[in-house]
Amino acid sequence: MCMCYTANPDGRHLWAMLLGDTLLHSLTSDTLSTSMTACVLHHPAAIETNPLQIHDDLPIPEPGPGGVLIRVAACGVCRTDLHVVEGELPTKKMPVIPGHQIVGIVEKTGSAVFGVDPGDRVGVAWLNHTCGVCKYCKTGKENLCEAADFTGYTVDGGYATYAAAPAAFVYHLPAGFTDLQAAPLLCAGIIGYRALKLASLQSGGSLGIYGFGSAAHVALQVARFWGIEVYACTRDEKHRKLALELGAVWAGGTTEQPPKRLDAAIIFAPAGEIVPAALRALDKGGTLVLGGIHMSHIPPLDYDWLYHERVVRSVANNTREDGREFLDLAVRIPVETHTEAFPLRDANRALNALKNDAIRGAGVLMCDS
Ligand SMILES: [Zn+2]
Ligand SMILES: [Zn+2]
Repeated sequence: MCMCYTANPDGRHLWAMLLGDTLLHSLTSDTLSTSMTACVLHHPAAIETNPLQIHDDLPIPEPGPGGVLIRVAACGVCRTDLHVVEGELPTKKMPVIPGHQIVGIVEKTGSAVFGVDPGDRVGVAWLNHTCGVCKYCKTGKENLCEAADFTGYTVDGGYATYAAAPAAFVYHLPAGFTDLQAAPLLCAGIIGYRALKLASLQSGGSLGIYGFGSAAHVALQVARFWGIEVYACTRDEKHRKLALELGAVWAGGTTEQPPKRLDAAIIFAPAGEIVPAALRALDKGGTLVLGGIHMSHIPPLDYDWLYHERVVRSVANNTREDGREFLDLAVRIPVETHTEAFPLRDANRALNALKNDAIRGAGVLMCDS
């Protein structure tokens, strides 16, 4: 056994203990510290009041037997984080570290972990853990599990320099994406993909996308790859411009009627008042998918808008199968994520920007600098 001491390109010291040719374990010198930095929510409040508090002295989480400890490189900023921070979702854990689009390197694994090793680059998404025994888990619908945990909501998430997660729920990330590019794939990408699947579209079909943030800009690329025409309906001019750049055939205002009847529509904006406009844009037999975890009040609907077998359905969470399918697809397309990076310490600023539609594409916190 020999012990090598080197300096990696960014100046951090890397200790590597080698046994023959097998790299057993590698640790950065920072691992030797026992504290981490995190943005913590103690009480839900309007994001304008900057409710996330930065702590530099939190203990690094210890993974259980089936868990892994991840040194977080990047964590995507999602509208669901905003719903957690502002208290639009019922409080489950408080204080809590938000963030469920985690990209990082595994530093440590529990005693019962197989298939995930120290040094692996992995992602953690919203679905953090499921019970495995309820009727939903047993029938391929683990996204509906009665006893699921959700990253950055019922358990601590990735607005931090370290995060722990169950090994069975982490994804190995494709090499083609940088940490910054990969982060938005983990919720925006996966949930957008599930929403597309539930829209039941076929090649040559037409899709309306309402609200054009992080999930929409990825879903548009998948839809185009499948040969689907995309019509983007969004209130913001720069988002309409991005939609057209990414291949939408038309972009208009949120309640503007697209030039043709659509086979399906997805509403990513959390605004129930869009539902009537989206329903009126649907062709007979069309499906309207509501892509958010929270939505403001939906106005009364006229039955004529729903008649002719139109369907309205929501998307709830994701299965691991969705995640694996989408990540494989993202490499093949390849999906191009438009991102805006923020330092971890600026999480409040990133969420304020998200609320004000000021991010073009996806916001991502960089957690390792
Ligand atoms: Zn279950
Ligand atoms: Zn999300």
